[in-house]
Amino acid sequence: MDSFHSEDTYTLDDLSHWQRDGTSLAVLGYPVRHSISPAMHNAALDELTRENPQFADWKYFRFEVKPEELLDALPLFYEKGFFGLNLTVPHKEIALPALPQVDPAAKEIGAVNTLRRMDTGYIGFNTDGFGLESGIRIELKRELADSEVIILGAGGAGRAAAVQALRSGCRSLTIVNRNPERLAKLIEAINPIAQERTIPLVGKAPDDPTLKIPEGALLVNATSLGLKPDDPLPLPANALSKSLALYDMVYNPPRTALMQTIESLGGHAANGLSMLVYQGVRALEIWTDHPVNPDTMDRAARSAIA
Ligand code: NAP
Repeated sequence: MDSFHSEDTYTLDDLSHWQRDGTSLAVLGYPVRHSISPAMHNAALDELTRENPQFADWKYFRFEVKPEELLDALPLFYEKGFFGLNLTVPHKEIALPALPQVDPAAKEIGAVNTLRRMDTGYIGFNTDGFGLESGIRIELKRELADSEVIILGAGGAGRAAAVQALRSGCRSLTIVNRNPERLAKLIEAINPIAQERTIPLVGKAPDDPTLKIPEGALLVNATSLGLKPDDPLPLPANALSKSLALYDMVYNPPRTALMQTIESLGGHAANGLSMLVYQGVRALEIWTDHPVNPDTMDRAARSAIA
């Protein structure tokens, strides 16, 4: 009988006493109590186990780790035998320099959300871009490739979205952000990828009168606006039109004011739950080397949120 429970939130103190025979996976974040990743991954592991008994002792946990503790915590997770880790806010960028190996796409993004154990430490990946692209395809029936893409936000999620859009061959990329320094830094970092692929890339402030949203553009909200009910729209309403498709990374609440505005104009909008599910699918595939059923993770995510 396993004395560790995937519903609990563990701390580094718990980790220092950790002794578990099975294969352990975990999400590390601060705060992390709200994370539904344990529910998603453990449901998918149960399903994998029905076909492959080798996964019977795999379990996914949740650990609250403060940002200043992360670099000391990672070697401890390794020493305690953790096979895979997910990193969520605010750890995705902090971990990068501490890893002996990082996947090229994650290096371009400048952030990792998935670590897999190797002989010499953890190798880092970023599955957020895959999650976003899959979500856009499934929910909006659209492709990043050949789309005029407008990304709202230049934080960690905006960065992952921008690199994915460029790598997938978008027709043009506009990034819109409130803080001009953060915007300029992101544009500078991804400009070489855009130039290599001859993709037009511009950065704009949300209230810039020269900001033009082309007909039929694919809009991605990667700001945290929409999480709270009284948040303003990330763009002036008069910049929006019915020809737009919106992928809003926020999934709780399930329908943001931006989604409602686009839908009321006659455009299509989807929330970010599918991105969460598909980044999780890809992470579990990286750890298990087995295909993972997205429907199982999706059902578990919806019931955990409800
Ligand atoms: P982050 O690094 O903290 O970046 C936050 C972004 O939101 C920045 O661009 C910031 O702009 C903007 N922002 C925040 N408050 C604002 C305000 N009052 N007015 C205008 N802009 C504002 O966060 P992140 O990790 O990129 O996450 C961004 C969002 O994506 C969050 O809602 C997160 O939950 C969501 N997300 C979802 C998934 C998923 O799987 N669905 C995955 C990752 C992230 P400034 O630079 O101007 O501050």
